[in-house]
Amino acid sequence: MELYELNLRSAAEGVRTKKFSALELFDSCLARAVACEPNLSALITTTVEAGREMARRADERLAKGEDPGPLTGVPVVLKDNLCTKGVRTTAGSAILGDWKPPYDATVWELLRDAGAVLLGKANLDEFAMGNTCGSSAFGPTRNPWDTTRVPGGSSGGSAAAVSAGYVPFSLGSDTGGSIRQPASYCGVYGLKPTYGLVSRYGVISYGSSLDQVGPFARTVGDLHAVMGVLARHDPRDSSSVRGKGLDFSPVPEDLKGKRVGLVREFQGFTLEAPIADAMARVRGLLEDAGAEIVEVELPIVARYAVSCYYAIAMSEAHTNLERYDGVRYGRTVDDAEGIKEMFERVRSQGFGIEVKSRIIAGTCLTEPVRSEEYYVAATKVRTLIAQEFAKAFDAADFILQPVTPALPAPVGGVDEDAMKGYESDLYTLPVNMAGLPGLSFFTGYSPSGLPVGLQLVGPRWSDGRLLNVGLTLEAMLGSPRIAKGGL
Ligand code: GLN
Repeated sequence: MELYELNLRSAAEGVRTKKFSALELFDSCLARAVACEPNLSALITTTVEAGREMARRADERLAKGEDPGPLTGVPVVLKDNLCTKGVRTTAGSAILGDWKPPYDATVWELLRDAGAVLLGKANLDEFAMGNTCGSSAFGPTRNPWDTTRVPGGSSGGSAAAVSAGYVPFSLGSDTGGSIRQPASYCGVYGLKPTYGLVSRYGVISYGSSLDQVGPFARTVGDLHAVMGVLARHDPRDSSSVRGKGLDFSPVPEDLKGKRVGLVREFQGFTLEAPIADAMARVRGLLEDAGAEIVEVELPIVARYAVSCYYAIAMSEAHTNLERYDGVRYGRTVDDAEGIKEMFERVRSQGFGIEVKSRIIAGTCLTEPVRSEEYYVAATKVRTLIAQEFAKAFDAADFILQPVTPALPAPVGGVDEDAMKGYESDLYTLPVNMAGLPGLSFFTGYSPSGLPVGLQLVGPRWSDGRLLNVGLTLEAMLGSPRIAKGGL
């Protein structure tokens, strides 16, 4: 077995007990990344020197008998919308040029303090807008199980890197599904935490009321390990919630008597056969384990969540992206005649088409004459969606639902109908609208060899228990393998 094949906890244990050095582990992971990158393009930046230096330092501290933390020597990849001091951070956009942030995102600070070693910054849809990883200014990432297909998005690079064995874990961000959907497409586990549990400081904002950072890994227990480090109150993020020190010790959940909800309104929607089969199979396993299947109703979610999500996300995006003006960050032009021309040229050259269309839509939706009818109305529906979930969780401990209606599409098979792409987020984005935690878990492979994931959604702050249910499911369904990565 090669070192890059180890999961997070085995890798950390091996470094701590000096079975191998952090540098050996890093070099094995790096060699794997270098071998697969021509096929996958999962990384925008590979931090070879900085990473080797961090690994060396971890080894030195261990040699001195210090305990540098639970993630000591474990390589990690961060989605490239997470700020890393002195390391280029692009958000997948040309507008940031080779901007090097003057500070670290809190999530990276926490991982680094726990001993993690940076291997690279992962590709993403531009400013995290999309679900294919195809809107990146750096070109598309490919699915490590079938390189003709998309890895999902927007955190496609982070998911692909874990799936192909570049690193045992990575971070992504999830505004409407961007951790859960690529986790499912790439055959790894991914958690979107409860809103407010993980700091957003230093996360390049897309939809601030929806964005949440979370981990990808090849075992559920590894998600526990990362969440144990990330779930901290951060005074630098006003939406970070105090006093929610949740327990992330991995304890498989006894499913006997647990009420698992299936959403009545989703029953009528079409799923591709491998996903429908997985739903039936997991339902059967849950029943065998003593869980009770109950029906819950989410009529407003089923009918209005997609349109309201996009109204809110685009409105927030247009506000958040105002700051890219050619003055404060990255790209600029020197020969503009006046400030208006400078803004126009920087923004029209720097942003890609998906981002531009969302800025325009967001501008229209929040115009004073229209905002009551659209943006404000969408936020009201959002409250109803949160209430609807709260009611569902009176009847069920967790909800089991798909992540997507279909398996990953071919790369570049761009749908002419953008709305169809947006609608495929129906199962993920309501979770963000209500601020809930969602776990994307691996169930097995389709007859064509593609991984099939499903989703478990819980009430706010049930993150630890959600992962514990995930452990039980992993024991029943088996863990994913490392993908071939096109080799
Ligand atoms: N696909 C959704 C969107 O484009 C979600 C993206 C995300 O979670 N960052 O908005």
